[in-house]
Amino acid sequence: MTPLPPGATIGIVGGGQLGRMSAMAAARLGYRAHILTEEPQGPAAQVAAGTTIGPYDDPTTIAAFAACVDVVTFEFENVSAAGLDLLAAARPVHPSPAVLRLTQARVTEKSFINAAGVPTVAWLPVGSPEELAAAVAQLGLPAVLKTTRLGYDGRGQAMLRTMADLAPAYERLSPKPLILEAFVDFACEISVIIARGQDGQMAVFDAVENRHRHHILDLTLAPAPITPDLAAQAQAIAREIAVAIGLVGLLAVEMFVDASGHILVNELAPRPHNSGHWTIDACPASQFEMHIRAVAGLPLPPATRHSDAVMKNLVGPEATALWPDILATPGLIPHLYGKAEARAGRKMGHVTRLFARGALPGQFGLSAALGVLGGES
Ligand code: AMP
Repeated sequence: MTPLPPGATIGIVGGGQLGRMSAMAAARLGYRAHILTEEPQGPAAQVAAGTTIGPYDDPTTIAAFAACVDVVTFEFENVSAAGLDLLAAARPVHPSPAVLRLTQARVTEKSFINAAGVPTVAWLPVGSPEELAAAVAQLGLPAVLKTTRLGYDGRGQAMLRTMADLAPAYERLSPKPLILEAFVDFACEISVIIARGQDGQMAVFDAVENRHRHHILDLTLAPAPITPDLAAQAQAIAREIAVAIGLVGLLAVEMFVDASGHILVNELAPRPHNSGHWTIDACPASQFEMHIRAVAGLPLPPATRHSDAVMKNLVGPEATALWPDILATPGLIPHLYGKAEARAGRKMGHVTRLFARGALPGQFGLSAALGVLGGES
């Protein structure tokens, strides 16, 4: 495809903070961002050149949106693939609806990853209490029972520790299709974000470590404090998956490093990812710029990192209460998403702190470096 010329309009399906930061990156490259969202004054709509407001799978809304844009991408996965199919009939959509479909359900996603020769945790589909009992007999306990679709930030999951946990967990999560995963006693969780252009060119960010709190991402450490060999393996896995899935756009690959140092892929997200927010401040081209470049058919620069970084999410009212202190702390780079209401568990913004390459501190130094935010993890 010939590169999208400056002044062209990039349609983004979804109106949250990922759309907001993608729209800001698009604007910097001379594009207009047009958001399809159900929320007129949401984080993305506030910074975009235009919006279409309506349901994501309503044909009239989709036609109105398509008429305003030159190319389409999306910022979250809970959009209907059927809606994207309608859009794809009118405009180029990157990543493709097929990529979205594959990653929307854990069973198709894990089958695909395993077929590409990449290890995941051991898993089995579960469609009935009998299948759950059989899956537990095969995978053992502890194990994690999950809904196959629409789970995020730990929602739609149950930890099974004893046989007594099976029935209540099945009761709570069914009748949705379920998957049972062996529990991984992981050494750490890491992720790699990769961009792939329409010509197959790829740019791969460094592997980072992700630490969660109450199932929500709390801290990202860039680079991950793992061996260079493991970091290279993680990047190689991201490349293999991007090629196998036929990616055009951005893909986040979430992985576990298990106790014996093996990498297991957990999840794929074909969009910008919370664990890539550090790239805005620590890389010449952020994940959002890479996303827009890939979608617009521009060349992808190398995903180099000029600094080490720690990213801390600002979640809920307790974190936003610290905003004045954050602004008054030298070295903390603040990002707020423009959400009106700071509900518990809601991602309101994030903060990045940069370090010279190779100077990312250990645990004690990290807390000190985060100032008022350092005591929370
Ligand atoms: P997910 O929705 O699959 O990303 O899971 C959310 C979080 O739950 C992960 O980031 C892990 O911290 C934890 N988790 C999910 N699956 C497993 C598993 N099979 N073993 C251990 N921890 C898990």
